[in-house]
Amino acid sequence: MAAYTKKEQIYEGKAKKLFRTEDPDKTIIEYKDSFTAFNGEKRAEMSGKGRLNNLISSEIFGFLAKRGVPLHFIERIDELSQLAVMVKILPLEVVVRNITTGSLCKRLGVGEGIKLPRPLIEFYYKDDALGDPLVTEDHALLFGWATEDDLSSMKRITLRVNDILKALFEPLGIVLVDFKLEFGKNSAGELLLADEISPDTCRFWDASTGDRLDKDRFRKDLGDVLGAYEEIWRRLSGRNKELS
Ligand code: UDP
Repeated sequence: MAAYTKKEQIYEGKAKKLFRTEDPDKTIIEYKDSFTAFNGEKRAEMSGKGRLNNLISSEIFGFLAKRGVPLHFIERIDELSQLAVMVKILPLEVVVRNITTGSLCKRLGVGEGIKLPRPLIEFYYKDDALGDPLVTEDHALLFGWATEDDLSSMKRITLRVNDILKALFEPLGIVLVDFKLEFGKNSAGELLLADEISPDTCRFWDASTGDRLDKDRFRKDLGDVLGAYEEIWRRLSGRNKELS
């Protein structure tokens, strides 16, 4: 792989910055030390967070790449950044849930911690001003946020990623409760899994203690937020890579 250098910044989000490179089809993604929750209302800076999310996300993307999942991720460059395919992000967040918690319980009044008989997929429209509302597939189609093909590919890839990640985390004593994925299209119009997969975007529960090992520690002021991220990285990086 040729070495790419960071050119001008093209985007800054809540958790990452994107930079142009020599190749218009490739971007460098740099992870930040910022935490945000509740649509940006709650914020904090924690030194070391960007590094941990970059390491965790790169490890997970590498694992998915080996299993043929179409990804924007190319490689981790250093402690804070990744090289990725430049994509145009679809304005939909895809959430998959194995166990009930979070906004699902608040919205529908269902109990916490119920194991679902099969994974539940939801779409949210990415719009900060609206607070990322839950939408139906028909909304996405009729307002042009995605095509029928995009929706069916997103659902198929999301369920596959869920299966792969459950199998990755189970032997590490981690329950994959739910997570959020984002997708984008490359310059050829191909749909790729994008963004990040980290304790910011997943709920991880310790299988034996039930401890929260994810951003809920920040959302709910449970303390030792980075300790939980560190623990995810410790288990992921220390796993027997011949088995998984
Ligand atoms: N999630 C995310 N970004 C968002 C909203 C949700 O990464 O903007 C993730 C969240 O970390 C969890 C899953 O998606 O793993 C489901 O989140 P939920 O809808 O329960 O929302 P919350 O309770 O976090 O508001």
